[in-house]
Amino acid sequence: MKNNRKPLIAGNWKMNTNVNEGLNLIDDIQKQTSSINTSSSSPIIDVVFCPPFITLKKVHEILDSNLFSIGAQNMHWEEKGAYTGEISPLMLKNLVDYVIIGHSERRQLFGETDEIVRKKLEAALQHDIKPILCVGESQEIRSRSEEQQFISSQLDAALANLKNSNGTQLIIAYEPIWAIGTGNAASAEQAQEICVFIRNHLAQILSPVTADTTRILYGGSTTAANIKEFLAQPDIDGALVGGASLKALEFTSILWQTHEMAKKL
Ligand code: PEP
Repeated sequence: MKNNRKPLIAGNWKMNTNVNEGLNLIDDIQKQTSSINTSSSSPIIDVVFCPPFITLKKVHEILDSNLFSIGAQNMHWEEKGAYTGEISPLMLKNLVDYVIIGHSERRQLFGETDEIVRKKLEAALQHDIKPILCVGESQEIRSRSEEQQFISSQLDAALANLKNSNGTQLIIAYEPIWAIGTGNAASAEQAQEICVFIRNHLAQILSPVTADTTRILYGGSTTAANIKEFLAQPDIDGALVGGASLKALEFTSILWQTHEMAKKL
């Protein structure tokens, strides 16, 4: 484990699978991973499934919670009220352990601003749901070499009210937009460069202790073929996996490889 940071793999299913397809996928993955984590008394990796909302409850019923956790892909910040079509932290509280906040698809396609992302993140923490905060630059920003500036402004905005805090439940996912769903993953070196930048920035805006203990994931076209390169980097503690999390064999391979690497840390 890098500085006691347990590797974490989260599968973001996005708007894919109906309930039956989702349960079959979980079933296939569970069958192929039953001996993961059983080699030691407490799990050495964390695995999180983030299926669509309507599948959460059923997944909760069949999931081996010793091995796996559940995450939501989004959440409103208010507890209840006139917000047609939204899902609140209170509705998710006993169903999920994690929630993805500020995914670039939410920011780009659904108009989520930095301010909305901050409210959602704070609501998650308040309700004891671990937020996986997504940050990352577009191709255009990278072509101007402004990615660090952009990412630090996303972090500053989302974490504005957590300044100087220690030991939050926060997880960060570095997801360059140009790498998401494109098959064009960042190189492990590019990802490491930004992840260490994020860690240093967290040390400044939160605290050095929090920066050391916060898990930072890479996301963007990770596969069974490239996962090891990312996990081998000193500041990458896991992955947020999109497309590959929908394929049982591929995702299982990612989990096994992560498990084997975790044993050696
Ligand atoms: C994602 O959507 O968070 C993601 C990383 O997708 P993909 O792995 O398909 O690039």
